[in-house]
Amino acid sequence: MALEDAKTQIDQAFTRAELRGLSFENAFGGATSFLRRRYSKDLSGAQIAITGIPFDQAVTNRPGTRFGPRAIREASTLQAFDAPYGWGYDPLSELAIVDYGDMAFDYANVAEVPARIEAHLAGIVNAGVMPITLGGDHFITLPILRAVAAKHGPVALIQIDAHSDTWADDDMNRIDHGTFLYKAIKQGIVAPQTTVSVGIRTDNPDTLGVSILDAPSVHQDGIDATLARIRDVVGDRPTYVTFDIDALDPAFAPGTGTPVWGGLASWQAAALLRGLKGINMVGGDVVEVSPPYDPTGVTAIAGAHVATELLALAGWGLRKEGL
Ligand code: MN
Ligand code: MN
Repeated sequence: MALEDAKTQIDQAFTRAELRGLSFENAFGGATSFLRRRYSKDLSGAQIAITGIPFDQAVTNRPGTRFGPRAIREASTLQAFDAPYGWGYDPLSELAIVDYGDMAFDYANVAEVPARIEAHLAGIVNAGVMPITLGGDHFITLPILRAVAAKHGPVALIQIDAHSDTWADDDMNRIDHGTFLYKAIKQGIVAPQTTVSVGIRTDNPDTLGVSILDAPSVHQDGIDATLARIRDVVGDRPTYVTFDIDALDPAFAPGTGTPVWGGLASWQAAALLRGLKGINMVGGDVVEVSPPYDPTGVTAIAGAHVATELLALAGWGLRKEGL
């Protein structure tokens, strides 16, 4: 760390002069934007926007993910000093990134939230900016995918999750975090042939045709084989990446609504996300971080690392485009 900078930098969430660059602000002080990026509702000149959807009214069990975006931002402050490990480039210095803040909504008018999420994301996507979203429960990915598909057409999907989220739910007005993928497939936003779910360890006999790389298969076959199978499914199609933090074992991410044992270790998640470099990524999210069930903050730390890896993965593609 640059000690002299640490003595003078503060509140880079709003004092940062450039969208690019590392931050040497004390991790324990100052305003907490994601990775000390500048808060801005102005997307001009930005390549990637981080945004939070603090919505948790679609959960089947423990709530609390409405506090996820704030906790992830706070945990991220420790990662703003250096390039993320293992990428060989520094997305914070090379790419123009803003923290677009959270989405506003009426907590007592739940029925209007899906359209609001879609419009919020459309505002980012249609500006030609790559969205990385902090949840929120997993329902939010359905309207996000709608906004992304409106721009790019039906996208390939990499879902990293303990749960398939394809349980049958034909009432399209229901708002349920366990059926986002069922509805995305039924609505033609994503095709099952180009969707892969990694880390699954809950029983759901109807896969809807999605490729399932369950948690035991990842443990048994290893990272390289898993990556090869993911690449076979998504190819070079425009691809969205959704990371449900419960994909991680509860030992690494206890602060989530529906924890299931036998999950991925954090090193496996890191190796998978880094190993995906080169996919044609069009957006991503990390969802289901629930701070009230996260007494040590370890789940928020994992969420911040996942979001940083998604950012590095997104930046990898943007960087190649620029060459
Ligand atoms: Mn999920
Ligand atoms: Mn899950």
